[in-house]
Amino acid sequence: MELQDLLYSQGFGPRRVCLGLVQHGLVTVDGAPVTDPHAEVEPEHVTFTVEGKAWTYHAKAYVMLHKPAGHECSQRPSAWPSIYTLLPAPLRQRPSKGGTPGVQAIGRLDQDTTGLLLLSDDGTFIHRMGSPKHHVPKVYEVTTADPVRDEHIARLLAGVVLDDDPRPVRAAACECTGADTLRLTLTEGKYHQVKRMVAAVGNRVTALHRSRIGRLELPADLPAGGWRWLTPAQVAEAS
Ligand code: URA
Repeated sequence: MELQDLLYSQGFGPRRVCLGLVQHGLVTVDGAPVTDPHAEVEPEHVTFTVEGKAWTYHAKAYVMLHKPAGHECSQRPSAWPSIYTLLPAPLRQRPSKGGTPGVQAIGRLDQDTTGLLLLSDDGTFIHRMGSPKHHVPKVYEVTTADPVRDEHIARLLAGVVLDDDPRPVRAAACECTGADTLRLTLTEGKYHQVKRMVAAVGNRVTALHRSRIGRLELPADLPAGGWRWLTPAQVAEAS
């Protein structure tokens, strides 16, 4: 692959910008500056830096983000900063054939919810992880306003009726984890589902954190606002 095409594919901007980055000596390959935009590189086997920042080639992007509170999962947020501002420009700019450029969040978390969010530019992966038909389990750590009672857990497991659908929705798993905390696993993704289910049993969510999606757990060492590439093994066994 030509170096300028490599940069373009990774989201470093339009082709003329990529050309300029190389010609101005702002790109190194395996530690050495390369100023020929047409230099052939093997993307999977080189390390490169652009304007001093190291980058590795990813044919498709699969990333996890530790979403902090106070961010909206929207490209066009209404009141809070977008989660996309937490990602480096190349992840937001990756070219896509016909679609919106960059990675897309797989599902949404509320503005005040924290935790694991997956993003990708691979339509198949987005569908596999995000489609309600695939029932990928999502685990939420919930803090409640009032103490958690056995009856709350039993009702969340048995199923509660929300105001937009007469069919009950139930937790795939639910356990008390403290006086006012519980762990809830859902395989659907209705709007405000955790908050509405907890309200339906007579309690109220005061804090919500997603700790797991399918087989992917939010790593303890990924700080709020931080992101990380998924490894090929994580992508393969995510759901
Ligand atoms: N359920 C909610 O109520 N909010 C979220 O952000 C996610 C699940």
